Amino acid sequence: MTDLIVAIDGPAGSGKSSVSKEVARRRGFGYLDTGAVYRALAWHVLQHAADTSDSAAVLDAVGDFDWTISLDPDDFWVRVGDEDVTAAIREPEISAAVSGVARVPAVRLAVNASFRRLAAAATQPGIVIEGRDITTVVAPDAPVRVLLTAAPEVRAARRSAEISGQDASAVAKALHARDAKDSKVVDFLTAADGVDVVDSTELDFEQTVTAVLDVIEKAVAADAR
Ligand code: C5P
Repeated sequence: MTDLIVAIDGPAGSGKSSVSKEVARRRGFGYLDTGAVYRALAWHVLQHAADTSDSAAVLDAVGDFDWTISLDPDDFWVRVGDEDVTAAIREPEISAAVSGVARVPAVRLAVNASFRRLAAAATQPGIVIEGRDITTVVAPDAPVRVLLTAAPEVRAARRSAEISGQDASAVAKALHARDAKDSKVVDFLTAADGVDVVDSTELDFEQTVTAVLDVIEKAVAADAR
């Protein structure tokens, strides 16, 4: 059973995934990308040719959603049944469809229970869980809770640098549209009580990783006192 849960939330393009993964690596922790599970579910719903904006169709598809995810930050993969969907879930059509799946309350309840089970069963000394509602819903009692933010234009620029072959303004538009839909379901732009904010607008990757590691160090030191 894992001793230390590090909960990290934030909007799209805040650097959450790459920072969380690196923090997990440096501490020898597990890494759980909850967004990847919502994306895998969106992929699964689309395989059923169902409309992700149709809650009943989404719920129907959840019935046989059989997924597994790696908790190893150095060997990350997601599978649906026997199929490796690690790359497929990053396609723009999944990014466009995923909010529709994530807004269904019964879906959230089901996947949240799985996230808690996975975290509790992890064999590493700690686990970094990242998403939108980890600090508030999935692990509100985690000893380390961080909201990673960045100015919207910085997030859009980072995301379009990551995705080659797509028009930068289209990437920015898609990112803001997804944030707007997601924020109707979970408030991931304001820090809940007791959550540390790391604003990466003016920080590079290394500085952001260091800032999150510092929050962990502080929490561990306070716990030891
Ligand atoms: O983190 P990422 O951008 O890959 O997340 C994909 C989508 O999954 C988000 O846009 C959001 O709709 C959903 N999500 C969520 N709650 C989480 C993680 C992701 O609703 N904890």
